[in-house]
Amino acid sequence: DQSIDALDPDIAQVLDRELARQQRTLEMIASENFVPRAVLQAQGSVLTNKYAEGYPGRRYYGGCEEVDVAEQIAIDRAKELFGAEHANVQSHSGASANAAVMHALARPGDKLMGLSLAHGGHLTHGMKINFSGRLYDIVAYETEPGTGLIDMDKVRELAVAEQPKVIVAGWSAYTRQLDFAKFREIADEVGAALWVDMAHFAGLVAAGLHPNPVPYADVVSTTIHKTIGGPRSGMILCTEKWAKKIDSAVFPGQQGGPLMHVIAAKAVALKVAASEDFKDRQARTLEGARIIAERLQAEDAKAAGVKVISGGTDVHLVLVDLVDSELDGQQAEDRLHEAGITVNRNAVPNDPRPPRVTSGLRIGTPALATRGFGAAEFTEVADVIALTLTGGADIETLRARTAALAEAKPLYADLQQY
Ligand code: PLP
Repeated sequence: DQSIDALDPDIAQVLDRELARQQRTLEMIASENFVPRAVLQAQGSVLTNKYAEGYPGRRYYGGCEEVDVAEQIAIDRAKELFGAEHANVQSHSGASANAAVMHALARPGDKLMGLSLAHGGHLTHGMKINFSGRLYDIVAYETEPGTGLIDMDKVRELAVAEQPKVIVAGWSAYTRQLDFAKFREIADEVGAALWVDMAHFAGLVAAGLHPNPVPYADVVSTTIHKTIGGPRSGMILCTEKWAKKIDSAVFPGQQGGPLMHVIAAKAVALKVAASEDFKDRQARTLEGARIIAERLQAEDAKAAGVKVISGGTDVHLVLVDLVDSELDGQQAEDRLHEAGITVNRNAVPNDPRPPRVTSGLRIGTPALATRGFGAAEFTEVADVIALTLTGGADIETLRARTAALAEAKPLYADLQQY
């Protein structure tokens, strides 16, 4: 039985080089993180061999006695961590979790009201060519032009006028906390189900540093790989009332066999998420984002046309508006890449540039917090970002500063090979 180096050197090289890239650069894509080695181990385990359609104790395949244990542990940990009545841990991804949620809560043709993609919503909340936009009748609420915030009075007005079947609260690019109590009130007023997609901020919720949507929502979906820092995958929490519908919407509604190796890795990540270390990491995540938002509002940044949407952040990311800057989103992303920092360009509301270019950036701190960054390191990286965006220093100097940070906070230091 050959190792990957012997069997497939082409792919082995990709793994090696990707590890080196992750170690060398500063990862600031808001939706990314670094999983602990225990997660890599579970995900790279023999559990990948097992078919287990069904749920623990109710499988359609034999030999599920061990994977049943792993899935039940993941379910119990998810319920405990977020205070949920029911958890389904089988979704392959955030998008497939969301497809299952809509499958459970509505029928094709029903009305779904979510945050517009152009204003920070996710594809699965109603984008035209996504399953959500194709199967459901979409109404979108937006952020306000001056403040960049969601105005709950307008959300209510829209809900009353449109009478949606489902309201989704959640985002991929927004920097403030949502008012879950108000969303609940509006959903009740119009007789809609309330679905919260906490994919981005679930880690903050687990750490008690962000309001928990579970007590307010009928259904809460999430990914496990963003702030939670687990394997790429999704999960659904809900009240007992929706439990059966959610389970059957996931399997057999959306999926066949669950990925048992990923479910075991989810269980590991959920154990980590209940720890004190995890709380500390989430606190550093928030602190880092605040430091960056502040630095990007200093005089030199303002003078270069760099603006911070909503004037700051309460979460793990900062949204930068470059409409008045010399750089567009693509150029800013490329320049930061040259300086050794990975971010993604992001459309700003009413963006004058096309989606492939954009006029904004989304900068996130979860991965660097996992790497051990605290206030000192985030202050340094914030300065490097500001100088890169304003042209305040040459790129060689900036690259040396990011390299020094990467060296000071090594990643997977004792992992010789992928
Ligand atoms: N929901 C939200 C709010 C997201 O930001 C994302 C990912 O970007 C998803 C769902 C989808 O997750 P995945 O990429 O795992 O399908």
